[in-house]
Amino acid sequence: MGADHSSIAHHELFSDYHMHPQGHRVQRYTQELLQPWADSARKKGLRDIALTDHDRYHAGIDFDEIKRLRERNPDLRIRAGIELDNDPVHSPAGRKWIEKHWEDLDFVLGSVHFLERADQMFDSVPDGAAQFEGMNIDEMYADYFRRLRELIATGLVDCLAHLDLIKIHGHRPTADIGALVNETLEFIRARNVAIELSTAGWRKPVKELYPSDPIIALAMEKEIPFTTASDAHSQVQLGENFKRLADKMTGIGVGKVLIFEKHKSVEVPLQL
Ligand SMILES: [Zn+2]
Ligand SMILES: [Zn+2]
Repeated sequence: MGADHSSIAHHELFSDYHMHPQGHRVQRYTQELLQPWADSARKKGLRDIALTDHDRYHAGIDFDEIKRLRERNPDLRIRAGIELDNDPVHSPAGRKWIEKHWEDLDFVLGSVHFLERADQMFDSVPDGAAQFEGMNIDEMYADYFRRLRELIATGLVDCLAHLDLIKIHGHRPTADIGALVNETLEFIRARNVAIELSTAGWRKPVKELYPSDPIIALAMEKEIPFTTASDAHSQVQLGENFKRLADKMTGIGVGKVLIFEKHKSVEVPLQL
């Protein structure tokens, strides 16, 4: 026998807590829509998934259909979730819907997708990049994190999606944003909110995990827990780059993920 590798932690990711079965339009939940997502999850070795369509498509969500999906796929844990945006037009209704269905939901993601423009998500690729042209990037970062804290303050959010989405098109601040990030993470910790490690950043122009390494390190210091997420907009993207993420988590010493049921979280060790 060669070297003994048994002492090296091997991480196997099993949960994906960010996906969009409806894509970018209202599509009523049916078994035809949802079952391919369960099939794909199983194929990729995922055992715990959260459906998190955007709140502006809440009309498509049907809790009875989620229940049927669970019955048809007893080997999977399927969480009823939603991604609450800061959409100035649609999210006021989305917030009301979440409050009304709080008991039916397992998990609420919080996301800042809108800055000054109310009619376009700044993270649209490539169109949203125009919102950064000629702007003071430092001020845009400050504005983004301010909006993030506003969203946390609603008290409706279990976990924050793509924490540093503002970097999506590759715009970097010139000033040190350490204090800004620290203040935001303090607030996250105080409000007992989780943050996701999202592989989606790797397929975007920035080509970097959400959030960045320094933010992950600071979050670890503050003992803020993590979920794992792909932000899949097609079932094919489920668990995308999770092997790469698992290796990264092993390398930096993140050995647990958070899972949710009825907004109650449990930390699960990844080490086999
Ligand atoms: Zn999002
Ligand atoms: Zn999303």
